[in-house]
Amino acid sequence: AALLSPRMSLVKPSPTLAITDNAKAMKARGMDVIALAQGEPDMDTPANICEAAIKAIKGGQTRYTAVNGTAELKRAIARKFLRDHAMTINPDDVIVCTGGKQVLFNALVSTIGEGDEVLIPAPYWVSYPDMVVLAGGKAVSVECDASVGFKLTPELLKKAITPRTKWLILNSPSNPTGSVYTEADLKALGQVLKAHPNVLVMVDDMYEKLLFDGAKFATLAQVVPEIADRVLTVNGVSKAYCMTGWRIGYGHGPSWLIGAMSAIQSQSTSNPSSISQAAALEALDGPQDFIAAHNVIFQRRRDMVVSMLNECAGITCMKPQGAFYVYPSCAGVLGKTTPKGVKINNDFDFANALLDEKLVAVVPGSAFGLAPYFRISYATSDDILKDACQRIKDFCASLR
Ligand code: PLP
Repeated sequence: AALLSPRMSLVKPSPTLAITDNAKAMKARGMDVIALAQGEPDMDTPANICEAAIKAIKGGQTRYTAVNGTAELKRAIARKFLRDHAMTINPDDVIVCTGGKQVLFNALVSTIGEGDEVLIPAPYWVSYPDMVVLAGGKAVSVECDASVGFKLTPELLKKAITPRTKWLILNSPSNPTGSVYTEADLKALGQVLKAHPNVLVMVDDMYEKLLFDGAKFATLAQVVPEIADRVLTVNGVSKAYCMTGWRIGYGHGPSWLIGAMSAIQSQSTSNPSSISQAAALEALDGPQDFIAAHNVIFQRRRDMVVSMLNECAGITCMKPQGAFYVYPSCAGVLGKTTPKGVKINNDFDFANALLDEKLVAVVPGSAFGLAPYFRISYATSDDILKDACQRIKDFCASLR
C-alpha cells in the first residue's frame, strides 16, 4: 500500500458495487438475499441491436475506429439531438466513449485545475465526487432534500457558486432519487448561470428515456440556448436500451472541450469498442417502441414499491417521475432497536441490519451524500419487489 499514489487515499470504490458484490456473495453461500442495489434494467438488450453487433463482427468491423467514435455513429447522435431536443448540432462536436462514465471522466480530467470546485447537488450519483477528486478538484456538495423535491433551486445554486466554481453537475432523471427537472426548473437555473459566464455545466441525461406519468424530458442546452456554448450534454445507450455491458456513452459540447476530451481518450483507452458502436448505431436509429413498453413496466413497479414503502412504520417515500430508483427517508426508525438488539443510529445501520436480519440489500443514503435515506432500485421483477417490500415492512414493524 505504501507504493500507492497519495491520490488513492481520496478515492473509494463505488459503494453500490460493493453492496451488490456483498449481496451476491451471501447468495452464493445459499442465503435467500434480495438485492435492490443494482443500477441496470433487468430486461435484455433488444434483438435488433444484438443482430447489428453480430453483423458488425461478421462484416469485419473489428479494428480501431476513429478515436472519438465512428462518423456514422456521431451522425446518428446528431440526428438524435435533432429528433429529441430540436437541436441542430455538428457531429464533430460529439465524442463517443466507453460508457457515460468515461465521458464524465474525460471532461473533468481535461478541465479541472488544482483547487477548482465542482458543485454537485446531493443526493448525487456516487461517482461524481470521486471523479472530481481524482482530477485534482474539490467536490462541493449542495444539499437538496425532500423539501425541494431533491432538486437544486436557483437560491441554493446562487449561494454555492464561488470564484473557484468550474463546473455544476446536473442529473435528470436523477440517480438516486428519480427526480425530474422540468423545463421551468432548468430555465430558472439558467437565469443564475447566465450571470456566471465562467461556470461550465455537465448535464447527465443518462436516464432521459425512463419517464412516467407523462412527464416531459427537458435538457439545459435546449431550453437555455444562450449558455449552450458551455454545456456538456452527456448521454448513452446503457439505461434506455438495456446495454449496460456494451459500454457506449456520448457527449456533446463546445469543440474546444470535445477536442481536449478526445486528446485524453487518444492517450488512454482509444476508441470505444467498434462492435458496440455498431450496436449503438442500431439502438439510436432503430425502432424505439420497446422504450414505452418498458416504462409501463417500470411505472407499475414504482407505484407498487412507493405504496408498500409508505405502509412501513417510520418510512416515508416520495413518488418520483423517472429512472428506476426511489429514495425513501428512514428518519422515523432512527433510535429504534432491531430484534437482534442492534440500535439504528443512521441510514448505514438501517441498511446493514436490513441485510443481516431480513436479507434485503439497499444502499444507505449517506453513500449519495444525503442522510437519513436509502436507495432502492426497482429494476427487478414484480414478485421479487413485493417480497422485498414485505420484508422491509416486517422489519420496520419489528423495531422497538
Ligand atoms: N450517470 C448516471 C447518473 C448513472 O447512474 C450512470 C450509471 O450507473 C452513468 C452515468 C454511467 O453510465 P455508463 O454505464 O454508460 O457508464
